[in-house]
Amino acid sequence: MESSKAILDKIKVYGTYESKNAYIIRDFLMRSVVTFDWIPVDSIDAFRLLYLKPVPDHYSLPILEMPSGLLLSNPTIEEIAFNLGWITKPKLAEYDVSIFGAGPAGLSAAVYAASEGLKTVLVEREAIGGQAGTSSRIENYLGFPNGITGADLAERARQQAVKFGVDILLIRQSIKAEFIAHKIHVDLIDGSKIVAKANISATGVTYSRLDIKNEDQYLDLGIYYGAGSSEAVLCANQHVFIVGGGNSAGQAALNFCKHAKKVTMVIRRNDLEATLSYYLLNRIQKIPNIEVLFNSNITELHGEGSLQEITITDNISLLNTHYPTKFVFVCIGGKPNTRWAEDTTIVRDKAGYLVTGSDLYKPPFAKEWDGSFEPNYLQTSLPSCFAAGDVRHNSIKRVASAVGEGAMAVTFVHKYLHDNY
Ligand SMILES: Cc1cc2nc3c(=O)[nH]c(=O)nc-3n(C[C@H](O)[C@H](O)[C@H](O)COP(=O)(O)OP(=O)(O)OC[C@H]3O[C@@H](n4cnc5c(N)ncnc54)[C@H](O)[C@@H]3O)c2cc1C
Repeated sequence: MESSKAILDKIKVYGTYESKNAYIIRDFLMRSVVTFDWIPVDSIDAFRLLYLKPVPDHYSLPILEMPSGLLLSNPTIEEIAFNLGWITKPKLAEYDVSIFGAGPAGLSAAVYAASEGLKTVLVEREAIGGQAGTSSRIENYLGFPNGITGADLAERARQQAVKFGVDILLIRQSIKAEFIAHKIHVDLIDGSKIVAKANISATGVTYSRLDIKNEDQYLDLGIYYGAGSSEAVLCANQHVFIVGGGNSAGQAALNFCKHAKKVTMVIRRNDLEATLSYYLLNRIQKIPNIEVLFNSNITELHGEGSLQEITITDNISLLNTHYPTKFVFVCIGGKPNTRWAEDTTIVRDKAGYLVTGSDLYKPPFAKEWDGSFEPNYLQTSLPSCFAAGDVRHNSIKRVASAVGEGAMAVTFVHKYLHDNY
């Protein structure tokens, strides 16, 4: 991955504005800090004609042109990653620690673990950076007085991890974990297996959905989950809607208002004070093209093919208003990524978050495990398995706390390895 970085600034993505797959490609490249040109074209014939590219008949848009000139027809993320040289096999038969999830918590854990001499593998199912990687500007992370994009922060951490020798496996999801003789054996989606003496789960959360009829139909065709950093410049003169009143929604509004004609934040509650950081609230209130609709929900989605209109219901008057729009960004928090733990004895809370440390002694969790050891702060009910960041029950949902927990988890891994090996 490291060596290919230098030549990546010449990737071109050709496609139609309405293309779902073109959005998925742009989002992946943006989050992976790969510089690319987005070139809208109406059809494959127009592509042939305008760019004089000899493409076989079965090729279709979107087309990705690699720096080498290779054309990929409607590629999957896996194909793109493969062609960037990012798909690698695990280098070792067994690691000291396996870390799942390359958001801030996992990246931090990987950097600390490898820099302290542990044989470390970091497995990520999508792009490096996690939720933070989708943030247009993180302004409250220590050491960056002018803020930093989430993708940049993630790329710096990736370089640090590579420098210390972390084995990074991208586009690989863990689907099943088994604990055999205290070691964690994990099946990855591509059929490979990882064995490690200890494990740090930093799998974070996935965005929640709106849960309205035909939402799936417009997924990535007008309805986007997350702050849509890759899309802001495409929203020139558009009316953009952002659902949610937390910091991620606030940041998205501040990013989109620079390009869009108008940004409307749709909020269920009747205030923003409780959910939004003061500095974001202050700015949002002063920007004329940001509007906030309180006590409101999006209740209907309409459009042929892609999204063209939404209905917003005022939860007090029950009045419905219809708005034409092509862009709705949903930033309403999420559910923990812990399905991999379903068949293990790891204690999770009702929502699926991993329970750690002293919380394991408290009801209702106390009766769910055998209490056979004294868990430290980030240790789950399985002694070799630690949790860091948003995936943890009662975690503080911030970049800094995820980074801190990642580093702390490594200290506890050292102690565990020292006591058991
Ligand atoms: C748009 C946005 C803006 C934000 N802005 C700020 C901010 O300004 N300041 C701030 O402090 N916080 C901010 N936050 C919150 C912050 O980003 C999160 O608290 C932080 O990213 C949590 O880090 P994490 O590593 O625990 O989890 P995540 O960032 O959620 O990362 C988890 C990673 O695990 C991967 N994964 C999941 N399941 C698997 C699996 N089975 N196998 C392999 N990999 C898996 C995911 O793909 C993901 O990359 C923002 C969040 C969002 C969404």
